[in-house]
Amino acid sequence: MNLRRSLPALVPLVLTATFFAVGTAESGTPKQSPVNVTPGAIRFDSHAPKLDVDYGSSALELKYIRKDVDKTDGCTVRNHEETEEADVQPGAGHVTVAGTRYDLVQFHFHTPSEHKFGGRNTPLEMHLVHRSAEGKLLVVGVPLVVGSHSVVDDVLAKLAPECGDAVEIEPINLNRLLPPDHGTLHYTGSLTTAPFTEGVEWYLTSPQHVTAATIARFQGLFTAGNAREAQPLNGRTLVEVPRI
Ligand SMILES: [Zn+2]
Repeated sequence: MNLRRSLPALVPLVLTATFFAVGTAESGTPKQSPVNVTPGAIRFDSHAPKLDVDYGSSALELKYIRKDVDKTDGCTVRNHEETEEADVQPGAGHVTVAGTRYDLVQFHFHTPSEHKFGGRNTPLEMHLVHRSAEGKLLVVGVPLVVGSHSVVDDVLAKLAPECGDAVEIEPINLNRLLPPDHGTLHYTGSLTTAPFTEGVEWYLTSPQHVTAATIARFQGLFTAGNAREAQPLNGRTLVEVPRI
């Protein structure tokens, strides 16, 4: 509905200004992450740019990300925005979408998954965070489900303590972090921790396997979880795009 055209001619200017203010607020509708992926929100667009993945090998440094350094009991209390994060060597991996290159910086984990599929969580979710030269963020989200051993088990074999040394990990093939299936779902959302900055490009993959022991180890550290609740789609759709 065109609000301006629907307004009676004699409506005072001040009221017209109010309508336009509402319009401004609507264009600022939150576009937050994570989201609950429902079949009705998925569409196919053959013109959507593909996710071009170019990963190599990298040694990793697994470290605990603290969000409560100011608290005296912070070394033992788990904050729900804290996580285990693996730093990737510069230049070891990048993705390209529509000519823009995003370098892989780090990947980290949440329990339960932040994204839901048909209202259901997976036990863990891995976020591979990429940054462009202009500072734009692209995150590949990988749901992790219980199954056979994968390279993710090697990454999470020994967890870094909240107050202690990082864990050095021998070089891994970064491609093997991703599932064999090459489908992804793309949408535009936000960071899932403060400051929840929007304009983050999300690509959700099919599930990857990890062993039950690894899931239990991670959940044993974050007993109350470290995932944000699903946020409203607010009219957004997820577009099926292949990863190449
Ligand atoms: Zn994350």
